[in-house]
Amino acid sequence: MFRLFIFAVTVCFAYMNYSAAAPVTFERLRSAENDGANWLSHSRDYAETRFSPLTQITDSNVNQLGLAWAFDMPDKRGLQGTPLVIDGVIYVTANWNKLFALNAVSGELLWQYDPQVDVNRANAFCCGVVNRGVAAWGNNLYMGTLDGYLVAINRTSGTEIWRTLTIDQNKHYSITGAPRVVNGVVVIGNGGSEYGVRGYVGGYDPDNGEMLWRFYTVPGNPADGFENPQMELAAKTWSGKWWEMGGGGTAWDSFAYDAELDLLYIGVGNGAPHNREMRSPGGGDNLYLSSIVAVAATTGEYVWHYQQTPADSWDFTATQSLILTEIEWQGQTRQVIMQAPKNGFFFILDRITGELLSAEPYVPVTWATHYDMTTGRPVEAEGAGYVDQPFNLKPTGLGGHNWHPMAYSPNTGLVYIPALDFMAPIENQDEYIFNPRQWNLGYKTNPSPFGHIITQAIMRASVDSYLLAWDPVSQKEVWRAPNPIIGNGGVLATAGNLVFQGNSANQLVAFDATKGEPIWQFDAQQGIMASPITYAVDGEQYVAVLAGRGGGLSMMIGMEMPPSSTIRRLLVFKLGANGALPLFDDVAARVAPPARMDATDDELMAGGAKYMALCARCHGAMLVSDGSVPDLRRLDNIWYQKFDDVVLGGMMQGAGMPSFKADLTPAEARNIKAYVLHKANEDWEIHNSPQWWLELQTWLAEILARFLVFLMQYS
Ligand code: CA
Repeated sequence: MFRLFIFAVTVCFAYMNYSAAAPVTFERLRSAENDGANWLSHSRDYAETRFSPLTQITDSNVNQLGLAWAFDMPDKRGLQGTPLVIDGVIYVTANWNKLFALNAVSGELLWQYDPQVDVNRANAFCCGVVNRGVAAWGNNLYMGTLDGYLVAINRTSGTEIWRTLTIDQNKHYSITGAPRVVNGVVVIGNGGSEYGVRGYVGGYDPDNGEMLWRFYTVPGNPADGFENPQMELAAKTWSGKWWEMGGGGTAWDSFAYDAELDLLYIGVGNGAPHNREMRSPGGGDNLYLSSIVAVAATTGEYVWHYQQTPADSWDFTATQSLILTEIEWQGQTRQVIMQAPKNGFFFILDRITGELLSAEPYVPVTWATHYDMTTGRPVEAEGAGYVDQPFNLKPTGLGGHNWHPMAYSPNTGLVYIPALDFMAPIENQDEYIFNPRQWNLGYKTNPSPFGHIITQAIMRASVDSYLLAWDPVSQKEVWRAPNPIIGNGGVLATAGNLVFQGNSANQLVAFDATKGEPIWQFDAQQGIMASPITYAVDGEQYVAVLAGRGGGLSMMIGMEMPPSSTIRRLLVFKLGANGALPLFDDVAARVAPPARMDATDDELMAGGAKYMALCARCHGAMLVSDGSVPDLRRLDNIWYQKFDDVVLGGMMQGAGMPSFKADLTPAEARNIKAYVLHKANEDWEIHNSPQWWLELQTWLAEILARFLVFLMQYS
């Protein structure tokens, strides 16, 4: 009877034309699973499945899918957002927290909202000026801003209703994640572990922004007293003066909610600094880093936790997608929570008690041999702590899976994971000094000692990126579909036996959900990191996705990306449409850069290391930009002349480039400039090499790279 009622309500919402927005109630959110027309919360439903019951677009007609409309974004940075669709309107966030409301059928702009993020905080934004989405409740939308506000916006008019500062702006917190509204509480976390902050999640009143509760994910200074008994217990698992470096544990992305149990599940991030020898020199598990924590949604009170990576030393966050479902497990029906976190193991927990049911590697892993199922703890591999010598780490801090959302189809019983198999050496940094204005890692991040062509070949040889279909019950891979290059998109699964994923090679691809065959693709002219969504208006099904690469993953690895349009867009598809994007010109005019500076090898190396610490997260490792910010190897010469004005003087603050005057001595700035000009000249020389010479060098580099990576794998 209740189901019938829900169905009737759903039909009404789908077919009535509302002059005023119908409120998003707790009942609507609880039953979102059955409401295929709308996409009411970040991952479609409280279980965070990203599975749609819509069946108009299927594996047999997806070849007729075409572009219905596109909306051009004003900025050129990475797009990570999942839009919401509520009663025929699509709400989508872009760079600098700009929010757009568009007619979901025509793409007509209904309103736009800009919270005016403080650009001067941009050096605290770890991974680009990105945002992953908004939450809906009543007649409002809720967004966390890069500079730490939680903002309520009227859904009909786009006007700001209230804003609450959720962070201490003297510390390097930022917000990129999407809020959730659970049982009348707006929930938002934050990021910034690498800058030495103390993580927490807050619950706020949706009517006025008043803070209802705060749950810290790591303990503070014991001398200040503990907020609750769990913090006192957690403090026993830390040593040294961890609170002076914040501790980390920021919950910057994933949540899930069980409305029956009224439990909110929090994915907790890595510690600060990454290296445990420096973070907690006397040992200890460092609760609640790299854990899933369940709290009561209405009070924020601790219920249970499971720590995946005790004493994490590798940036193994547990902030990746959390998905709730019911599975048959050893003869019993279990209510479970599933996660494929950075550390490479696929976890299944009983979500009522937190009991570990399964932890099997879903990508190759070197840091641990397996999980001991009696203790629930990983068995670390010899040398994985990189104390005495470097360790060849798999997965890396980029994760076997990062923030790009995975999806679960109850029809196929498969979890679809944007997976990454990548190995990198990790080496202890002897002289670590905590610095809250830059990343605190505790291991070396020197640039590649090789030239550009060999470095690129090594990257290609060490990276294997693919869409993985994982059967959680048999704990086995069912199929994999290779991605052309690193940094690929989140996933959508539908009842039409389809899985959609965008990739860094500018394609949106539809796969057969059962077999993994690619059966449709679209040239998006831009790399896709975000997850596609699907919705219906007046009985017609649409698929939508944001196209625009940028941010941590594609920048920190420094791989050359394919030529792309400079315009980032929301792309919307339906059956029978045949829209086309305007052609783009990918041949930029090149001029010779100024000559290399007079600098010793040591100065160049020091400049490269400083560049990696301060600049690479936005401008790309080894100066290889993914296109979301200017490629420093290919600037107009005027900018090399104005290097100090921009880097120290803050001349380009209006464009989002903060001043680094407080971070650099004049000698350090000079070393960075020398390194930049060195790489610019190397790039210019490659650009002017004869084609045959380039091809020969690339061929030789490929062989050398494969040999080096082979040695790393088996050393
Ligand atoms: Ca991290």
